[in-house]
Amino acid sequence: MGAGPVGLFCANFAHLHGLKTVVFDSLAEVGGQPKLLYPFKKILDIPAFSSISACELIEKLQTEDKQNATFILNHPVVDLKKIDRKFIIDNNFSVKSVIIATGTGSFTPKKFPLKMDDEIEKRVHYYVRDPQKFKNQKIGVFGGGDSALDWAAELADQPGTKINLIHRRNEFRGLESSVQKLKSLKNVEVQTPYLPKSIQIRDNLLNIGLKEMGTSNIIHERFDQIIVGYGFRANNQFVKKWGVNLNNNQIEVSRSMETNIPGIYAIGDVSTYPGRVPLIGLGFGEAQIAITTIMRALFPEKTLTIHSTSI
Ligand SMILES: Cc1cc2nc3c(=O)[nH]c(=O)nc-3n(C[C@H](O)[C@H](O)[C@H](O)COP(=O)(O)OP(=O)(O)OC[C@H]3O[C@@H](n4cnc5c(N)ncnc54)[C@H](O)[C@@H]3O)c2cc1C
Repeated sequence: MGAGPVGLFCANFAHLHGLKTVVFDSLAEVGGQPKLLYPFKKILDIPAFSSISACELIEKLQTEDKQNATFILNHPVVDLKKIDRKFIIDNNFSVKSVIIATGTGSFTPKKFPLKMDDEIEKRVHYYVRDPQKFKNQKIGVFGGGDSALDWAAELADQPGTKINLIHRRNEFRGLESSVQKLKSLKNVEVQTPYLPKSIQIRDNLLNIGLKEMGTSNIIHERFDQIIVGYGFRANNQFVKKWGVNLNNNQIEVSRSMETNIPGIYAIGDVSTYPGRVPLIGLGFGEAQIAITTIMRALFPEKTLTIHSTSI
């Protein structure tokens, strides 16, 4: 369960070994943190790619999976029971082994903290899926982390856009080099320290009241649309009920990626063991260990072919 980069690769690798997989994700689309939090970032530490954007990486992983795994999206897994030698997921799906790859958990965006009706909500976005839809518009980007900075840069690249990057502090949490790059762009205005206080639609534009922090000054800015990059809340609480051993909300695993419950494995950012680092490449290796262990458990009589070229 979990169709982040690690879950996607795991489904590919399971298929190489002839295993049938069903992949669940709580979101409507696959890709986990890279797709949601930093789609346009160039990732520099994926083996065999000197540089690849997060979106492109997910696309490549997904191409393989599309043909081989069954995807059940928009489905947060809640319930997991062991009955005899099988596992029952959400009282509906019977499987022989379970691999938990739920990363930091199911995401919900931190909402823009103002009361909004449906018309306003249509112009307020928490992700940027298709930057081209923002062409020739004035966009407000709210937030001080890497996602907000990346989205501002990506939208500034679109023809005819004007971007205001608005943050409540003068210092940004995201990379200083990204802040400097944005400041150097002609179509980007960095506005700090401002906090949104009111939002209305006037003359078919969003009219947002911004309070200068530490003063009583209010200025008004007009935007076609806004992007809210205040981050995401992640929830991994559901795994507590399944009886797996946790350490700070992460699942403890052995060197074969198995949890304390035989047949349940955890890989990627949801797993923990001494020395683990939250990196995609490492998660790929963990997927290979988990699948190899599952093959040995399910087919003890088989001599397992380890290399894909010999499968
Ligand atoms: C800003 C930023 C930059 C980063 N840059 C890099 C980098 O350059 N290189 C690198 O290697 N790593 C980087 N990382 C870390 C990397 O993104 C993570 O290590 C990686 O995403 C972990 O993959 P995962 O598949 O384990 O989990 P995730 O990517 O978190 O995916 C988990 C998936 O599980 C789903 N899920 C959660 N709960 C449930 C449930 N109950 N039922 C069904 N589905 C569920 C979620 O919706 C999600 O799709 C970065 C992280 C951040 C935040």
